[in-house]
Order: sequence, then structure tokens, then C-alpha cells
Amino acid sequence: MPSTCLSGQRKGADGSMHRSSTRIGNTPTVLLRNVGPEHPTIYAKAEFFHPGASVKDRLALAIIETAEQSGALAPGQSVIEATSGNTGICLAMVCAQKGYPLIVTMADSSSIERRRLMRVLGAKVVLTPRSGKGLGMYRKTVELVEATGWFLANQFETPVNAAIHEATTGREIIADFAGSRLDWFVTGYGTGGTLAGVSTVVRAERPETRIALIEPANPQLLISGTPQERGDGDVPSATHPSFEPHPIQGWRPDFIPHVLHQTLARNAHDDLLPVSGAETMEWTRTLARKEGILTGISGGATLAADRRIAERAPEGSVILCMLPDIGERYMSTPLFETIATEMDEAEMAIPRSTPGYQLEAD
Ligand code: PMP
Repeated sequence: MPSTCLSGQRKGADGSMHRSSTRIGNTPTVLLRNVGPEHPTIYAKAEFFHPGASVKDRLALAIIETAEQSGALAPGQSVIEATSGNTGICLAMVCAQKGYPLIVTMADSSSIERRRLMRVLGAKVVLTPRSGKGLGMYRKTVELVEATGWFLANQFETPVNAAIHEATTGREIIADFAGSRLDWFVTGYGTGGTLAGVSTVVRAERPETRIALIEPANPQLLISGTPQERGDGDVPSATHPSFEPHPIQGWRPDFIPHVLHQTLARNAHDDLLPVSGAETMEWTRTLARKEGILTGISGGATLAADRRIAERAPEGSVILCMLPDIGERYMSTPLFETIATEMDEAEMAIPRSTPGYQLEAD
């Protein structure tokens, strides 16, 4: 009987392990027909097709399985991670299936949906004060690891992050565009893992493809050029002086993570563009309305930048952008602020147009 599971392995009746197909990786590349200017062709890599509905399924599974193989993670050992959301949700999914207790530290500014999703998947969620920002949540996590011996997933620093995007996301893009033009790859950054892995493969195999890195406009951390204060092991030791909160959840913490810092040092991008919160929300909603694709806020931000690149690109250009997660994760955020819950006049007119059953109470 065919079967699938997260890890691509399942136990047979005799206890032996069999390979089966995995649902993580091999996300589709989708042609966007209605949201670009006329000429360039825009594709999107739709990461919400994953079982955990985000790009972080790749990383969560890779971190846990790498640690299992190296012996860094023992059966039943607790796992802990500092995460603004998606990594926590995907780790919760993987840990639930494999039987590891999970503790997630998260700034209390992250969306309600994220906390509940992690908890329904069995994780413990420790909220850290938003005043401490991302670095505060990270420091609490390290303190807990030192006190308990829990396994730290460590998305901001682990080499597994770049490696899994090189082995999967990057390779999938190369395969999808084999024999076809690809002028631009466009991505934002959280840890920088997507950029790190994809840029390694694209630089080696598609040197003509340019890479655009996008960050929130208010304010621009990388574009500011101000260096990040760093301590032992290249770990950020203070909030970046240019940081201010922004609405693009999952993008850019208040520091420049080690994974991103290493990637920037090897010239992984050709262009660096800012996007504003307003254009991000507008393009996330436009993508839903015109293409039927409800991606998260960071996907809309990437599309907004894509459009700017498309407007100045020569005819025939082909652009690929990342859509890192699913929009349903943001119902309590400004993304849905303008989406009504009550019927408007046009909707009221529909039931009133027939004489029978009346909706209004007597
Ligand atoms: N978008 C969302 C919604 C995310 O959660 C993340 C990861 N935090 C990213 C984009 C960026 O991915 P990466 O960490 O690989 O840079």
C-alpha cells in the first residue's frame, strides 16, 4: 500500500524502516498570470504546499533528522527553539510525529494564530516581552538550554539551514528552469537560510541569473550599511541600531543573523530592495483576488519587489519569487484589517432580490 510520511521513512509491520515518499520539498513553481506588468513572466515558488504550510518545513525536518543521525538528539529529549512562528509550527509538527517534547520561545508580538497552532501540535510556548525583541527571545532560549541540556534547534546559526536550502530549494529551482530562461530570483530574509542555499546553487549553475534580496523599508537594516555588533562565534550581541518593528512577520529580526551574515560576505545578491508595509499588504491581497493564491505577508512583500524588478526588466525576462507561507496564518493581523466580517450593501442586495425567505428578524 502506498504511504507517505514527513520524514520519508516509515516502520513496517516487522519493525524495519522503509522509504516512502515525503511531502516536504518539491513545492510547485506557479506561473502568475494576472499580477505582473505585461512583459516579464513572473513565477512563484509556492511553499505553502508543505504540510506545515511554510518554507520552514524543510528546515525543521532537516534539523531534527541531522541531530538524530549525529546523536546530538536522543530519543525523547526535549527540543527548544527561538522563533517568530513558522519554524516553531513546523518543528511542532515534526516533533509531534517523532515524539520529542518541544518548547518554543516567541516574542509576544507574534500573531495569536501562531501561538495556537504550536500549542495544538503539542508544543509549549514561552512568550518573551516584545520590548526584548528577537534578541531577547534568543537569549532566554540559550539560558534555558544551558540550564537544562535541551536540544537547541538553532535556526539562526546552524549550517543545516543553508545546506537544506542548497540540497532542496536550490536544486528544485535548477530542475524547474532547466533549459528555460531565469533572469531574477527574488527573496526576503529571516534567518537568511533561503538566500544562503539557493544562491550557492544558482551562482554555480545559473551564473546569468541575478538575485534580489528584499527587506522591510522602515527602516532598512542592510541598506543602512551600519554594521551589526557581534560577539563570540559571530553571534549578534545587541539589537541593530537601525531596527524598528515592521509588519512583515517572519522577515528580518532585530539583528543580522549569523547565517545571513556569512551569506552576505560572499556576495550572494546583486540587488537589495526595500518594500513598505502598505505595498506589502496591497500585493498580498491582490495576489489572493487575482490569482486565487492566499500567501502570507512576506509573500506579498516579495511580489511587490518582483513587480518593481519586472517594470524595469527587458522584454522576455523571467522572474521567480518565493511565497514562503500561507495567508490564513495572519487573520488577526493588519492583512485582514480591511476584510469585512459583516455583509455589505452589495451582499445584502443578493438575498433581498428574491421575495421568499427574509433574512431580517421581525
Ligand atoms: N517568510 C516567512 C513568513 C518566514 O517565516 C521566514 C522564515 N522566518 C522567511 C520568510 C524567511 O526565510 P529564511 O529564514 O530562510 O530567510
